[in-house]
Amino acid sequence: MQQPKKTERTCSYRNCENTYEGRSDKIFCSDQCRNHARRDQLKTEKWNAPAFYDKISQIIKNNHKILKHQFEEKGDNTVITNFLLRDSGFNFEFHTRILPTSKGIYRFCFDYGWLELENGKILIVKNDRMVEI
Ligand SMILES: [Zn+2]
Repeated sequence: MQQPKKTERTCSYRNCENTYEGRSDKIFCSDQCRNHARRDQLKTEKWNAPAFYDKISQIIKNNHKILKHQFEEKGDNTVITNFLLRDSGFNFEFHTRILPTSKGIYRFCFDYGWLELENGKILIVKNDRMVEI
């Protein structure tokens, strides 16, 4: 009877460079390396964030950048049109915190926020308390 083909191979686990002889479908030098590799794989799967984590935090960071830019350019109590914000890529759907006041509901992306006024106007504000945890 013919033996399964055996070849000298190098372990596939990280930096392990042990060589071993074995069947062609064997990829680790030892049970230890195989177990480590499996453990690493589970860890990666567990911590692999779903795509929306990155996507949404990107949107919020971009919103923050736009608000900060407007605020720094025009100063406190900046009022701009919502078209201007939208045109610069602002996404009104995503924010980190809300602050209900008698004037209305402020929405914040970290420390910069906005309040929708009448006629499509937007008030941009900065509030450091909105990033206190
Ligand atoms: Zn190994």
